[in-house]
Amino acid sequence: MVRRAPPLPPVRGLQPMSLTAWEGRVTAVLQIQGCNFHCPDCPVPHLIATSVEGGSIPIESALEALYRRRRWLDAVVIAGGEPTLHEGTRELVRLVREFGLRVRLHTNGSNPLALRELLDTGELASVSMTVRGPLDPTYAVAVGARVRLANVYECVELLLRAPGEHEFRVPWLPQVVEHDQMVAVLRMLAGARRVVLEPARDGSPGVRTLQQVGRAAGTYVESCVVAARPGQDFGARGRSRSVSP
Ligand code: SF4
Repeated sequence: MVRRAPPLPPVRGLQPMSLTAWEGRVTAVLQIQGCNFHCPDCPVPHLIATSVEGGSIPIESALEALYRRRRWLDAVVIAGGEPTLHEGTRELVRLVREFGLRVRLHTNGSNPLALRELLDTGELASVSMTVRGPLDPTYAVAVGARVRLANVYECVELLLRAPGEHEFRVPWLPQVVEHDQMVAVLRMLAGARRVVLEPARDGSPGVRTLQQVGRAAGTYVESCVVAARPGQDFGARGRSRSVSP
């Protein structure tokens, strides 16, 4: 029996140029519809529902737009929603790679099976995973959904072992994920090559408090910065650089 290729994932948005989705690179961002979490601070709640209901961009148009911009883009960021929910994401990555563009995947770390398959293709140049709290009952509150903590842990382990570039983003969530919880996450991510501490959507708790988190536990990882403040690195590598000989 011939197995049909899975459909390409539904694209809800295309940001033709971003200088922040992958620091240091000029990227376009594809937003894939559908997410299995309901984070209370979700910046893209319109992407959570699995059905697009007329709002999607035809995949051919999205690919054509990327193809036309391929000469001045470094990469395409495939974000969500949660792209690993769609089997067709692998094919989407392959098509973008055919344009000669690098791919960064954004994931919520809930689907280790799909993440492993994507990593095994060797086509991902970078993966950015958001870790929404320590792996205890806090997590379900932070993501607004039932979650298998073992899956999140497995995704962390996969990325720590995989050879390519990775980044873990750890957002502050008032009264749920604050200083102590962020420190616990940094301990769990020991050995990570890059961690970004993010403020909550309302800007709390301010840069200084996030810097305190970095000072308290940044050395568990190689590089630990506060979002939009890449100049000050609290990670082990950053601190060894700042020590004068
Ligand atoms: S994982 Fe991302 S897209 Fe999904 S609900 Fe949370 S913030 Fe929104």
